[in-house]
Formats: sequence, C-alpha cells, structure tokens
Amino acid sequence: MTDWTALIRDIPDFPQPGILFKDITPLLADHAAFTQVVDDLAAGLTFDKVVGIEARGFILAAPVAYQSGAGFVPIRKKGKLPAETLAASYALEYGSATIEVHADAFDAGDRVLIVDDVLATGGTAEAAVELVRRAGAHVVAASFLMELSFLSGRDRLSGLDVRALVAV
Ligand code: IMP
Repeated sequence: MTDWTALIRDIPDFPQPGILFKDITPLLADHAAFTQVVDDLAAGLTFDKVVGIEARGFILAAPVAYQSGAGFVPIRKKGKLPAETLAASYALEYGSATIEVHADAFDAGDRVLIVDDVLATGGTAEAAVELVRRAGAHVVAASFLMELSFLSGRDRLSGLDVRALVAV
C-alpha cells in the first residue's frame, strides 16, 4: 500500500491568482501510486463503460476501463468531438463552460462510472451526469481522485454514489 497522497502537490495562484491548484502529475509519474489509484477508483463497482472528463479525467479513466474490461467514453469541451453530440453547460466563477458527449456513445441501459481527478464545485460532474443520462445510460457512481470538501461539490450530485479517494 503506497501513501500516494504526498505525491499531489499544491501550486499557488494557478491558473489564476488566489487558486491553490492540486497538481497530480508527480503521482502519475510514480508507477506504484498510479496503479493503486486506478485500482481504487473502480473498487467494488460493476459497470459497462467508464466516462473520463477532459483532460485529466482521461488519464485516469482510460486505464480504469482497460483494467475493468469496460469501454471508455470521453466527455470533451465544446467543439472537440467529431460526430453528433449532446451538450450541457454549467456556470463558472466567471462565465460558463460547455461539455459534450457523442449522442451514440452508450448502448441503452449501459451502467456508467464517471471518473475525474478533482471534484471542486461539482459543476463539471453535474453536467457530466446529465449528459450520460440524456444519452440513455445509467450512472452507477462518480469516482474522483480528490475532493475539495470546502467547495461542497457533492451537494450537487445528490442521490448519486460519489466516491473520493482523498478529501481535503
Ligand atoms: P468543478 O466543476 O468546480 O467541480 O471543477 C472540477 C473540474 O476542474 C475537474 O475537471 C478538474 O479537473 C478541474 N479542477 C478544479 N480544481 C482543480 C485542481 O485544483 N486541480 C486539478 N484540477 C482541478
């Protein structure tokens, strides 16, 4: 059992002044830590597809899918996916953001695990849940490497199985 939490570092004032950014790249560079985190994100869950949210979510969700024998589905920022998409917008501190999924990404009734690196305000994950449901699939759980508890993101995901490997 590796204590990988020390491999997440704080970067002050990134991407803008006043934000303390959690940087997971040292963890990703450590094989034992990375593989343990991938194992733990899916532990005890049964699902058909794993959704990764651009961009760091891809890095975690793809190996979860590979290892679990599940498919991988990307949720991307607006304008990046080539085929017909469903879109969901959510508010940011300044302005809004839109994410998309391919309309045909899921088979009816697919059981889906959503994976991302950090749960902050929950806006991104809430929009991702909406997209998966509108695309006809069932969200089994949302798993995050890290939850920033002081931002209460899980309140926006009520009724859902929300997991975080570490909370700060
Ligand atoms: P939320 O929508 O406010 O919950 O923000 C979550 C999204 O922003 C996720 O896709 C994260 O990758 C990203 N994010 C927010 N804060 C951090 C951070 O401190 N480190 C890395 N990613 C972050």
